[in-house]
Amino acid sequence: MPALTPEQVIGVVGAGTMGGGVAQIAAASGHPVRLFDLREDAAGSAISRIDTALARLVVKGRMSQAQRIALTSRIQPCNDVAQLGDCALVIEAVAEELAVKRAVFSDLEQVTGPDAILASNTSSLSITAIAAELKRPERLVGMHFFNPVPLMNLVEVITGLRTDEGVIDSVFATATAWGKHPVRARSTPGFIVNRVARPFYAEALRAIQEQATDVATLDAIMRDCGGFRMGPLELTDLIGQDVNFAVTCAVFNAFYQDPRFTPSLVQQELVLGGLLGRKSGRGFYQYSEQVDPIEPRTAAPAAPPQRITMVGDPRPFQALLDPLAGETIEIRHQDSQKQFLEIDERVRLAVTDGRSATQRTADEPGLPWVVLDLALDLDATPRIAIAAADQASEADTAPVIGLLQRLGKAVSVIDDLPGMIVMRTVCMLANEGADAVNQGVCSAAAVDLAMQKGVNYPRGPLAWAQSIGLGSVVQVLDNLAGTYGEDRYRVSPLLRRAVAAGGNLL
Ligand code: NAD
Repeated sequence: MPALTPEQVIGVVGAGTMGGGVAQIAAASGHPVRLFDLREDAAGSAISRIDTALARLVVKGRMSQAQRIALTSRIQPCNDVAQLGDCALVIEAVAEELAVKRAVFSDLEQVTGPDAILASNTSSLSITAIAAELKRPERLVGMHFFNPVPLMNLVEVITGLRTDEGVIDSVFATATAWGKHPVRARSTPGFIVNRVARPFYAEALRAIQEQATDVATLDAIMRDCGGFRMGPLELTDLIGQDVNFAVTCAVFNAFYQDPRFTPSLVQQELVLGGLLGRKSGRGFYQYSEQVDPIEPRTAAPAAPPQRITMVGDPRPFQALLDPLAGETIEIRHQDSQKQFLEIDERVRLAVTDGRSATQRTADEPGLPWVVLDLALDLDATPRIAIAAADQASEADTAPVIGLLQRLGKAVSVIDDLPGMIVMRTVCMLANEGADAVNQGVCSAAAVDLAMQKGVNYPRGPLAWAQSIGLGSVVQVLDNLAGTYGEDRYRVSPLLRRAVAAGGNLL
């Protein structure tokens, strides 16, 4: 079925944060919109908020005054659900409770025509469950928008067990016509984004629990090396520790306590203490003008090495070391099946393979290891995290710090956490994405699009895993599983299969 045409009427039930945003984008695409809320003044207030937001766009020259007036006048506030009778599509954005949503759709079925599409903006409830008692369950679909709706372009189009294919196609096409990026997903806990994103928070919380580094350094590593717009801990402060913890608990319980989604004791303690983040003035950080921002830990200047030996295939390090051409540092090459840099005949340096540097040194006797965290772009990254084996002295590690500083990078030395910070997070994100694909929740392309458009990741986790090498990703996860002995790090069968087939995921 094609997209709805702009003359067709769109209904929105619930004029809160999400409903107001949905009404705005539908009206912006030319539809007449009926906005209904149980609270008498809610729809009118939502329209005033939309108008104020549009006024700012007029001031910035991104919209004309005539367009602003036309857009708001297309949204009609309603006090009676019967006024939604002529809608071709009604999108519900009321409280996140199954009984409330079922009652809303039952009422809507009474007043709308048989061809009307009914959509829920639920972020956690089953579309199949919401539809269970409807007379026309095949007309119900999920349309999961992201906050703020006018700015976030992802829409997860969720299919319940009985949703009609034509309904899905029409909603998909309509979302596209509204300038959004729809992705299709089956009704399963967390859909795509709220499921695949869990490790983004969970691995950071785990790293803090294991004392790998401090909060500001961890966030700086994820921003500067990982290329994420915000660090995971500052993001939980923005979302609200209680809200983020509740989503994790909901996904954990919905998957029958799969250890992969185990909530964090560190976060629970913040919630219990009322340290909810920005909204309470304190979470991981303190939000007060009296408190100076915490700076990430950055290593003091150190002298660069005198000699670097590129052991094995030099290609991965060639571009990184290019800026050293013409310097006094001696660079040699040594054939080997292995691949690492030997620095001043003191330490071996390579990207983490999921083992701690200490374990790697015990496994592979010789010079102690110093390991590098993953970076979105190793050559361009402004910061890099390293961890040294317990067998290495500070004097052993100093030339590595000096080398990376000479290459223009701020260096954050963290404790010897297996898989470090960015690497373990990206591998776990890719693992969860692969598992969602393996279980038929969505396509691999949908995982990557959803995470880029829904939560602004700098690269889709599956494409990122492929650029690392799927074999390396599996090795990191296997090493984490071996170290911790926890099912949390078990490798998705699809990832292992892709490695065995020598193929890829996308
Ligand atoms: P909100 O509290 O801001 O707004 C809900 C509105 O629904 C209120 O105005 C309330 O008066 C109205 N309402 C409640 N019961 C009603 C009923 N029976 N009939 C008509 N109106 C009713 O909530 P929100 O943040 O906009 O969330 C709405 C839905 O969207 C929830 O299902 C939520 O899980 C989902 N969602 C929220 C976000 C987010 O970031 N806020 C993101 C994605 C999805």
